[in-house]
Amino acid sequence: MSYELNVAHLYGDLMNTYGDAGNILALKYYAKQMDVDIKVTVVSLDEEFHSDDYDMALFGGGQDFEQTIVSKDIQTKKAELTKFIESGGPILAICGGFQLLGHYYVGADGEKMPGIGALDHYTLSQDNNRFIGNIEIKNEETGETYHGFENHQGRTFLGADERPLGHVLSGKGNNGEDGSEGAIYKNVYCSYFHGPVLTRNGNIAKHLLIAALKRKYPDVDFSEQEALPIPATF
Ligand code: GLN
Repeated sequence: MSYELNVAHLYGDLMNTYGDAGNILALKYYAKQMDVDIKVTVVSLDEEFHSDDYDMALFGGGQDFEQTIVSKDIQTKKAELTKFIESGGPILAICGGFQLLGHYYVGADGEKMPGIGALDHYTLSQDNNRFIGNIEIKNEETGETYHGFENHQGRTFLGADERPLGHVLSGKGNNGEDGSEGAIYKNVYCSYFHGPVLTRNGNIAKHLLIAALKRKYPDVDFSEQEALPIPATF
């Protein structure tokens, strides 16, 4: 392969309840078509995340119990993760990961777990309810439609400098109220989609890969990779 990307799988041993590890398989599949080799390192509790060591990060979903543990540990990675994000580092954050990149997440039993506030959203709880089911959204800027399955009790409200990943065509989305689903901030893509999301939405994998390649190899022209057709499913 001509290019290599180092991917940090944040808390891959804890935040993996909903098959998010499948996103890595999908990412490798798409990367191979772009002549890119993907090297994945799990970065978990008591391990350091150095922003300069990685070209992309994945942060999956989890149950409230795991999130209480991760919520504490991730504070030690806050500065480097924020630096990575602010310097255009691409991240895919799903559900629990999405919640903990924001200011806080209130769990089903009312416990408020701090996030790192690198993104300007916050997440409230619901009374004895979860949003579960198929969901379809549309991103207005790209015109792309994304399909997935959501399963979350949290209700997330975006900050002013975040755009939704898409607006809800069917399903509940971030909070069941404002029609938004997920978030985009710089090169960070957040979503409540499980599934894993990249297997059904190759375009998101492509956006992440192109962003990572352009950032790591600023002098290379990646228009060939950008023009590659991405199948809707793999
Ligand atoms: N525990 C969180 C919630 O229920 C996140 C769930 C998830 O990652 N799917 O909202």
